[in-house]
Amino acid sequence: MTKLDQIRAAESRLLLSTYDRNPLLFVGGEGVHIIDEQGDRYLDLLSGIGVNALGYNHPVIVEAIARQSKALIHTSNLYFHEGGAELALLLTERTGLDRCFFANTGTEAWEGAMKLARAHAGVLRSEGVNIGTKFLALEQSFHGRTFGSMATTYKDKYREPFAPVVPGVEFVRFNDVADLRAKFSNEVCAILVESIQGEGGVRPMTQEFLAEARALASSTGALLIADEIQCGMGRTGKWCAYQHYGIQPDVTTLAKPLAGGIPMGAVLCTEEVARSFHPGMHGTTFGGGPLACAVAIAVIGEIEKTGLLAHATEVGDYFQEQLRGLAKRHEAIVDVRGKGLMVAAELDSAELAKLAVAEMLKRRILINCTSETVLRFLPPYILERSHVDTTIAALDEIFTEYAAAQGAAATAGGHTRG
Ligand SMILES: *Cc1c(COP(=O)(O)O)cnc(C)c1O
Repeated sequence: MTKLDQIRAAESRLLLSTYDRNPLLFVGGEGVHIIDEQGDRYLDLLSGIGVNALGYNHPVIVEAIARQSKALIHTSNLYFHEGGAELALLLTERTGLDRCFFANTGTEAWEGAMKLARAHAGVLRSEGVNIGTKFLALEQSFHGRTFGSMATTYKDKYREPFAPVVPGVEFVRFNDVADLRAKFSNEVCAILVESIQGEGGVRPMTQEFLAEARALASSTGALLIADEIQCGMGRTGKWCAYQHYGIQPDVTTLAKPLAGGIPMGAVLCTEEVARSFHPGMHGTTFGGGPLACAVAIAVIGEIEKTGLLAHATEVGDYFQEQLRGLAKRHEAIVDVRGKGLMVAAELDSAELAKLAVAEMLKRRILINCTSETVLRFLPPYILERSHVDTTIAALDEIFTEYAAAQGAAATAGGHTRG
C-alpha cells in the first residue's frame, strides 16, 4: 500500500465525508509549483482556491511566520498586540473604507457583514428611518457555508439539506436591473454582491447593475455589501474588484489570499455603518491574532514592492488573449472572461470540462471547473507568461484530441448506422 492509499483509507474511516479529493498527496511547493510525495511538480493555476497569492514557500511569508511565531502567536482579543492596527490601516486605505473587523475565514467575515447590516438597519429604525431587515442576494452567488452565509448562497444543494435556513433572503437575477428594481423596497437592509462572481462561474457584474444597486441602496439607507473574498486583495489587478467600476460599497469582506495561506478574514465598513457595533455585539477568539496579522502585512508589502497588481493585469490580459486565440481554433470554448488573474473559459459541455480538468492533471497542471462548464483559473499573482504558454499548449492538445475522438465516434456511428 502506498502512503497515499494508507492516508485515503484512514481518512475514509475517520473524517466526515465532505470532500471528494483528487488522489494526490502534496508535501511541498515552490513558486507557482506544488510538489507531490514522489517529487513531481505541478503547475498550480488554482493556488489553493485563490489563497496562495504569492505561490508556495515564499521567503517573505516564511520569514514573517518564523519571526512572529517566535515572538507571539496568540493573545485573544482581550489585549492589544502589535500588528492589528497596522493591518487595519493598510486595509482601510486599500478598500476605501474606514474601519475593520478581523475574522478567520471567508464565511465568518460574511456573517459579520450580515450582522452589521441588520444592526445598522436597527440603528436607522431607532432614528425614525423606515427600513426593514431583508437581504437581496444574487442568483449564482456564493458567500459561504455557515447558516447566514448559506442562506445568501444561491444553489439549492448548499441550503436544502439544512432547512429551515435563515429567513429574509430574496434572490435577484444576475445583472437584471429590472428584477433588482422590482425586488428592492424599504424592506431591504442590504444588497449583497460579488462584483465578479467566483463559484458562480467567474461572471463580472455589469456597470449598469452595480451602479443601480448602489443608487437603490443609497436611496433608503440600505447597505451595498461587496463580497471580495475571491476577487479582492489584488487578484484582478486592483485591490478590490469593485474599484474597476468606480463604485464604493458600504461594507466589504476579504479572506482567501489575505494572509497568504494562513487563515484570515476581514470585514471593512464605513464610519456610518461602524457606529452600529458596540463592545460585546460581535467577536472571535482567534480573529486578528498576531500571526495572521504579521503575515497579511508581509503579503501586502510584497505585492506592492514587486508591483504584483500591474503584473496580475499584464499576465491576466495575456492569459485571456491566448484563451481567445484558442477559442478561435476550438468551437468547444464558448466564452472567455475575467479580470487580471481571475480567468475563465466556458465550454459547451460539462463532460468536456470534467475531462479537461482530469487531462490537465495528467499533464501536471492544476485547474478546476465551476458551474459545470466553466474552467476556472485562479493562479498565484507571480504567474509568468511562460506558464500561460504551457497551459495553452496543454489545453490545445486536449481539445484537439477530444474533437478528434468525437469525430471518430461520429464516423464510426455513421458506419454502423449506414
Ligand atoms: C470562498 C468564498 C467564501 C467562503 O470563504 P470560506 O473561507 O471558505 O468560508 C465566501 N465568498 C466568496 C466569494 C468565496 O469565494
